[in-house]
Amino acid sequence: MMRIAVCPGSFDPITKGHLDIINRASKLFDKVIVVVLENPAKSPTFSVNERLGFIHRVLEPFDNVEYDTYDGLLAEYVKKVGACAIVKGLRAVSDFEYEFQMDLINKQLNPEFETVFLNTAQDYLYLSSSIVKQVAMFNGDISKFIPEEIREDIVKRLCGED
Ligand code: ADP
Repeated sequence: MMRIAVCPGSFDPITKGHLDIINRASKLFDKVIVVVLENPAKSPTFSVNERLGFIHRVLEPFDNVEYDTYDGLLAEYVKKVGACAIVKGLRAVSDFEYEFQMDLINKQLNPEFETVFLNTAQDYLYLSSSIVKQVAMFNGDISKFIPEEIREDIVKRLCGED
């Protein structure tokens, strides 16, 4: 049986921290699906289509990673695609509390899958999409944080030079 994992998030935009988690998940599972979800608590900078476009470009080298978007519950999506796990990255204790709660809720909604947490790589410990956006808006160098293929487009979009 094919073991499928889902990597959910807002990916607003996708960073090297996300990519590191996706890459590591792709070695643990037969197939990984990166799914862009709308988080009602956040107002996104990039539209879902823009986010999917960036994801498409950075995922090209992976042959067992796909991407998708979903506007319902993650627990339902996992069932729909027949995944056995959700993979999430953990940066800090603050991530843990939220993720712990989400996992318990997801288990209530669908007890048939596991949430697997991968510890962040040290280089990406302080990296988040929102920090990247702040740095880029003030013309800071985001080369350490954003994959090269999409960097220029993100800077253009955030600095309003388009
Ligand atoms: P959310 O809207 O759930 O915060 P994000 O797009 O910010 O979604 O992140 C999606 C997933 O990627 C989460 O599991 C998050 O913990 C993980 N992640 C984001 N940045 C990093 C990073 N620098 N290192 C490890 N994991 C990360």
